[in-house]
Amino acid sequence: MNLILLGAPGAGKGTLAAILIEKMGVPSVSTGNILREAIKNGTALGKQAKAFMDEGKLVPDQLVIDLLADRIAQPDCAKGYILDGFPRTIPQAKALDKIASIDCALSLEVPDDVITQRMSGRRVCLKCGATYHTEYFPPKTEGVCDACGDPLVVRADDKPEVVQARLNTYHETTEPLIGYYGKQGKLKPIDGTKGIDSTVKFAAEALGIEV
Ligand code: AMP
Repeated sequence: MNLILLGAPGAGKGTLAAILIEKMGVPSVSTGNILREAIKNGTALGKQAKAFMDEGKLVPDQLVIDLLADRIAQPDCAKGYILDGFPRTIPQAKALDKIASIDCALSLEVPDDVITQRMSGRRVCLKCGATYHTEYFPPKTEGVCDACGDPLVVRADDKPEVVQARLNTYHETTEPLIGYYGKQGKLKPIDGTKGIDSTVKFAAEALGIEV
């Protein structure tokens, strides 16, 4: 199954993706994680992307379309994948339609005030991309990644002023994708406010899979 996770930044796409990859046996592809890795490694892509990301703006379409196309062409994506954070614009969705057949777009619905509160507790591992929350999804040892043992950090773009800019970008540019996939009959909205266990249950029901 080729699945898209739609939702505002901080809606819980990364956390849900981490659980669904276990249940569905397919990889998740996060363009945000690929870009952060590129910045960490100082690649040409990372250098181009950094200024946009630090300001909470979207990276230009062609850059992310190219990196996504390369990633889903890898052998581990042959049996399906979960897209987390792509597409984020109508041109990205149109480009995706040309190279992939999407089965479903799950839309995690969470109001802005809940997002703002959640972002303040979000912690990430820059090494493996795992995401935690100090209150809702804490690591076993405070400040340390369960998966790889690296220190957890606050993402530069989770700072409050940047969060507001990212929410504005989401409403202006990404939200229209809800209508785009609705028209294609692929949209499945789920409530993302009830905690991670409920979100997983709603997602599994929408996808018709066992949890
Ligand atoms: P995320 O981890 O998905 O919240 O993405 C973090 C940042 O990476 C975003 O605020 C954008 O600057 C950039 N980014 C990630 N995915 C995309 C995308 N599909 N299109 C444009 N920019 C992206």
